[in-house]
This record gives sequence, structure tokens and C-alpha cells, in this order.
Amino acid sequence: FERLKQGLSKTRDSLVGRIDRLVLGKKEIDADTLEGLEEILITADIGVQTTVELIRTLEQRLSRNELKDGAALKEALKEEILKRVVRDAAPLDTTAASPFVIMVIGVNGVGKTTTIGKLAARYCQQGKRVVLAAGDTFRAAAAEQLQAWGERAGVDVVRHQEGADPSAVVFDGIKAAVARKADILIVDTAGRLHTKVNLMEELKKVRRIMGRELPGAPHETLLVLDAATGQNAISQARLFKEAAEVSGIALTKLDGTAKGGIVVAICNEFRIPVRYIGVGEGVEDLRDFDPAQFVEALFQ
Ligand code: GDP
Repeated sequence: FERLKQGLSKTRDSLVGRIDRLVLGKKEIDADTLEGLEEILITADIGVQTTVELIRTLEQRLSRNELKDGAALKEALKEEILKRVVRDAAPLDTTAASPFVIMVIGVNGVGKTTTIGKLAARYCQQGKRVVLAAGDTFRAAAAEQLQAWGERAGVDVVRHQEGADPSAVVFDGIKAAVARKADILIVDTAGRLHTKVNLMEELKKVRRIMGRELPGAPHETLLVLDAATGQNAISQARLFKEAAEVSGIALTKLDGTAKGGIVVAICNEFRIPVRYIGVGEGVEDLRDFDPAQFVEALFQ
């Protein structure tokens, strides 16, 4: 918990630190206070839609005389934020199939490979057999990086040469996972966004191949988003949601950014469970997203 708290420190300063300065000691809440609060929420990347909803709810609670002072306002905000992040929260259950196939998608640089490496290490530690497939064949560095993570975690990595057909990698990955009786297969994919249409088409193709080779696969389509990109993460979520049947989200780089409010926006606006959050580069820095703990760490 302390590590999570430390990871969220910049967001806590920019969000809750400013809220404290605005409301603490206030004996009475008025429209100006709520206006100030609205501005803080928006600049902390909670998003316009979610901010408007939160402020409206707080106004209603104020008119019911529930918010007597600044401390009550802060507490009410915390409650309302928790309600919105807890709604669709669900950890990823990988026991539903074997091998359980996780297709990892997202734009280059968001932390896809790192997240896959962290997941591989974590599942290995749990005694699960893991295979990785290097489906991003456009960048040799991507496959190499995945291989390095795989070696560190002690898991097999299926990779082809640079420029190979990603579908062939997926095909071999599934074959290897089945032959080795793996519990989990994690498939990396390309993320060159400048060819948006091609990228989405390619993801669909990879998905089709998976389903053909192993009915039901992928069992999870995990979208990785970089929290530090703030509103960009929201547009990426929108784009991938439309094109790629996203079933879960991992939000990386929450450490080092003041834009952690984005977690609230993503939970509230997309109705896709946030499965993991990244709070550092180390292997232990990928956390299951625990809404209550997250809100507690933010507000403490
Ligand atoms: P990819 O292009 O999406 O595969 O991105 P990478 O996995 O190569 O990650 C890009 C950079 O982000 C690397 O330097 C990672 O160490 C870093 N990174 C990934 N996740 C986190 C995180 O949760 N916190 C921090 N601070 N850095 C991260």
C-alpha cells in the first residue's frame, strides 16, 4: 500500500492537495467552492463528463443539506469517486480456459511489452506455465525486449523474424502453448498508430486467427494505456474499444504523473474493467487494480 501511495504521490498532490487547500477549514459550501472543485477535477484529468456528473451529484447532496462543511464535501467526493471506479472493477480470472489467451493491444510506447513482462513474471511466480508470443513483428526491438523479459521470468517466447506475418507468430504461439500445456499465452501485437486503419485491420485478423486455432480465444483483450498521456489515453480507449472488443484495461506509468485522475475517467466512461495499474518500471510495480485501495491511496 505504501508503494502504491508513493506511486500516486504526484496525482495526490495535484488533486487532493489542491482540494484540501480549497475546502479544508471551510465552514460552509457555496457555488464558488463547487466551481473551484470542478476546475481542479478537470485539470487532474478526471475528464469533463465524469467531472460534470460528480459536481451535479455533489450539488444535489448540498441541496439536501448533507454537506455542512469542507471536510464533509471532501468525504462526499471520495465516496462518489469510489462508486464510479468500483462499478465494473473485476480482476482478471485466467482459470476460465487453458491455455488462457491474453491479447495485449495498445499504441507503441505505452508500456505494452513491459506490462507483458511483468504479467509473465507474476504468473510464473504463481506457479503457472506461461508462453509469450512476439506478435509485433514490425520492430525487431519489440521482440528482443519481449525475449529479455521472457528470459528473466523463465518463460518461453515464440518469435519470428522482423517483418514476418504476425498471424504466423500467433499460430505458432498457440501451437506451442497447447503442446507445452501452458496455462497462459500472452500475445504482444503491433501498435503503430500512424496507420490507424491498417492497425485495426491487423488486430482483427490476429484475433480471427486466434479464434480459428483455439475456439474462444482470445479470452482477454487487454488494452494498455499510458496514464501520463492524460486525455490522449481517453481517445485511444475510444478508438480501440470501437475496433477491437477490449475486455480489460491496464493503465501504466501512474507514478511520475499528476494525471492519475484518468483512472476515474476511464472506469466511469468506458465500462471496461481496469485490471491492472503500473506504478513503476520494476517487475513488482504492476498491481491488480483495487478500487478501494486506489481511492484510499489517493485521498490519504
Ligand atoms: P511498448 O512500446 O508499449 O511495448 O512500451 P514499453 O513496454 O517498451 O515501455 C515504454 C517505456 O515505459 C519503458 O521505458 C518502460 O520501462 C516504461 N514503463 C512501462 N510501464 C511503466 C510504469 O508503470 N511506470 C513507469 N515509470 N514506466 C513504465
